[in-house]
Amino acid sequence: MTPRIALLGFSIECNRFAPPATRADFDRRCWLEGEAILSDARAPVPRALAEMPGFVADMDAAGPWEPVPILLAMAEPNGPVEAGLFAAMMAIWRRGLEAAKGRVDGVYCVMHGAGLTTADHDPEGTLQALVREVLGDVPFVCSYDLHANVSDRMVETVDAFVGYRTNPHLDLRERGAESAQLLRRLIAGERFHRAFRRLPMVAPTVSQLTAQGPYAEVIGLGQDLAAQDARIANVSVMGGFAYGDTPFNGMAVIVTATDAAAAEALADRLARAAWERRHRFVAHLTPLEEAVRRVLESPVPLALADVADNPGGGAAGTTVWILEALHAAGARDVLVGMLLDAPLAIEAHGLGPGARFTARFNRDAAPDAPFSRPFAAEAVVRAVSDGRVTGRRGIYAGMAMTLGRTACLQIGGLSVVVTEGRAQCADPVFFEHLGLDIGAARAVVVKSRGHFRGGFDEFFSHDRIIEVDCPGLTSPILSRFDWRHMPRPVLPLDPEARWP
Ligand SMILES: [Zn+2]
Repeated sequence: MTPRIALLGFSIECNRFAPPATRADFDRRCWLEGEAILSDARAPVPRALAEMPGFVADMDAAGPWEPVPILLAMAEPNGPVEAGLFAAMMAIWRRGLEAAKGRVDGVYCVMHGAGLTTADHDPEGTLQALVREVLGDVPFVCSYDLHANVSDRMVETVDAFVGYRTNPHLDLRERGAESAQLLRRLIAGERFHRAFRRLPMVAPTVSQLTAQGPYAEVIGLGQDLAAQDARIANVSVMGGFAYGDTPFNGMAVIVTATDAAAAEALADRLARAAWERRHRFVAHLTPLEEAVRRVLESPVPLALADVADNPGGGAAGTTVWILEALHAAGARDVLVGMLLDAPLAIEAHGLGPGARFTARFNRDAAPDAPFSRPFAAEAVVRAVSDGRVTGRRGIYAGMAMTLGRTACLQIGGLSVVVTEGRAQCADPVFFEHLGLDIGAARAVVVKSRGHFRGGFDEFFSHDRIIEVDCPGLTSPILSRFDWRHMPRPVLPLDPEARWP
């Protein structure tokens, strides 16, 4: 039998406090319909994140199959998706699924899991329910980002739940391939049970690393125990994304297994392991003044992470607190990236290398914009680019990226990368393509919460990274937000939270 597999995807991480995401945001990253999904997945430099390429490669290697590609829509993290846009996506998925009905043997869907729309807390659950509504009991596998906020509906409507295991995320391709393998087992007739536990614990983003720390321990325990038990098909421990602010926020354990009792027992054990470590899921940030002092005094190069203004978590990438403080302190040989500022990037790009001018950051920001305050300084344009780069290392490795018009501005002792489009500074190529030498810098400032660790690890070991405490839409200090939907009590906001 040549299996026919429907392919679809919806991937965006939505920050409840950021402005809505539009069609342009998806077009900029990845909007692929029909055969375009396959040609992208098989391209040397795909636009899509690596799950679909990994899935397609694994299916191709396993023998003949017939893809039924529908729509794969991905955008950089942002605010909630405009409800009308999501309805248009749903219409495309519905049309494609209805056309395939009765002639499809399985479905793979690339999800993020922390999506929102302006009218729906759970668009992934809505899409998964659509698959069931149209196709009924067809084998159905979804893969998710480790920051998924997992709803009951997401677990109920899928046969196998496959979450990333690495943060920074480096196993997307492997999880796509694993999804293909589980889907083939389902098509061959196996049936899976899913066990699901959600904890009243919203771990700050900076405490969800998988190289070390409490989260790494729980994920490692899950993989160790799964390796000893052939009944366990997948173990996913999802850290969640606080800023989604949904009624189902909370660290989640999902075990997919051929045996219900084995799945439930392992889910309980891992949930207990996470809960026992609950007091270690905290943010330890460095005040800005201390971070600046360390840059000036450190005998070794340092990386400063502006974790509160992370475009990878839906923030704009426009705040200037660190830039301003380092400039005022007279810091030298510091790289700063990347500030989203379209008017400034276009102006500098037009002036060209060597031009001197007054760089006015956030010139068009509304006076009441909480985080985008203006800053002006004398600058020299050091380099410009059209912003088309191929990711070199980390989450964007091998991917085609578009930053729009981009410039490097020399401002005192700082080399500041300014872009027309928004992207998380997670890959050294964003500096390197402008001729900047990361290895020669005294310090590098990145607007990134954690993905820079996967890209800049060859320059900065864990002990040379400083997570700076500044204001912003992705601050790990959760008490600074006005939560509306999160279930309470929850750690770390409410010390009285209890489980089970
Ligand atoms: Zn993530």
